[in-house]
Amino acid sequence: MQTSLFTKILNKEIPSDIIYEDDFVFAINDINPIAPVHILIIPKEQIPTINDIVSGNEFIMGKIILAAKHIAKEKGISDSGYRLIFNCNADGGQTVYHIHCHLLGGKKLG
Ligand code: 5GP
Repeated sequence: MQTSLFTKILNKEIPSDIIYEDDFVFAINDINPIAPVHILIIPKEQIPTINDIVSGNEFIMGKIILAAKHIAKEKGISDSGYRLIFNCNADGGQTVYHIHCHLLGGKKLG
């Protein structure tokens, strides 16, 4: 498997501000935000697409959601609301083949 863009960011081969990190996931601001808050929550394990999730990945998927909840609180959008999105493959709009959760908020989303 080729090293993904996000693994390169995690390994500091490509610069990006890591705004959250624990043992299992990390988060960065999206380079091309579509909302006032647009953060990507990414597992440190490089899993290409949601289709590659297997039994045994429940823990890491839970860690992604918990991190999203934590970051939403930190950003002050817990009560106003937010959206979590995983894109899968071409028709789903996936462009980086290392699963990631988009955390969108800070405005009324259409
Ligand atoms: P996807 O389309 O795969 O669901 O989402 C990939 C996201 O990664 C896009 O929203 C895109 O703007 C973001 N992105 C692409 N390259 C970079 C980068 O180098 N740094 C950061 N922070 N985000 C990136």
